[in-house]
Amino acid sequence: MRIGAHISSAGGHHLVFERAREIGAEAVQLFISAPQQWKLPACTDEQIEHFRAAQTASGMPAFFHGVYLMNFGSTDNALLEKAVASLTAYRHFAGRMGVTGTIFHVGSHLGAGFTSELVARIGRMLRQVLDAEPDNPSLVILENNAGQGNCIGGTFAELGALIAALDSDPRVAVCVDTCHAYAMGYDLATPAGCESAMAEFDREIGFERLVAVHANDTKQPIGTFRDRHENIGDGHIGYDGFRTLMGHRAVSEVPFLLEVPGLDGKGPDAKNISRLKKLRKELGIPAPKMPRVPRVKSSG
Ligand SMILES: [Zn+2]
Ligand SMILES: [Zn+2]
Repeated sequence: MRIGAHISSAGGHHLVFERAREIGAEAVQLFISAPQQWKLPACTDEQIEHFRAAQTASGMPAFFHGVYLMNFGSTDNALLEKAVASLTAYRHFAGRMGVTGTIFHVGSHLGAGFTSELVARIGRMLRQVLDAEPDNPSLVILENNAGQGNCIGGTFAELGALIAALDSDPRVAVCVDTCHAYAMGYDLATPAGCESAMAEFDREIGFERLVAVHANDTKQPIGTFRDRHENIGDGHIGYDGFRTLMGHRAVSEVPFLLEVPGLDGKGPDAKNISRLKKLRKELGIPAPKMPRVPRVKSSG
């Protein structure tokens, strides 16, 4: 099991690996375009080479996070086209850059409800994304949300229905965000709650599709549908909750990626990484072998 984090790619995507190493991360998540903008990512051949070289040297798996504007639940064709174009572009670069896949939020049905029509439409949109590059092995990774507003995919059953609409395509996977799951009412803070949440995941989706965990504690009590990330151990899930989850057989090979505020408010940091590593050690879960990489000046 790897402990990783969302890392800033400011100044060059390849810099995430050095930044990850500095805080002790063993896997990375990054954006390759501004997440609040529609501007499509554009990486030159040289940047792609640079990224691949840095990733190979780091020995770390990488994930993209898609832009926040995408809403596959919209009925506005122009917006749907933009969402398809954005995710298709991310997937294109994921394939070329050796990135496992793109984690994204499906969106909101805007009050129309989680209907079979909605599920079919989302299936068609995501099918377009996959069909744009049939031979690209990189995954589209649906993330559960906190169930706020009219968000789609708060429950594992909803995510499972979307995967079924894609004929269970093997390139569709799931990332579980612990903060979001807890907000939705999955009681990850207790052994019984964690076991029943994971059993539901396996029934509705299947453990083989679980490829990442967004490891975030939460500032909000259970079932409040509010998405407020907290540092590991300082929130309602707590150390006991994370210890229980990390000990579950479904996640033994799944990277945990932090999206926490950080102890000094600057995002995922060495302290949060070491909190999860400590739990991993207590549980006797093996740490990955990380290559020794000579420090390179990050001026390119
Ligand atoms: Zn997340
Ligand atoms: Zn969140």
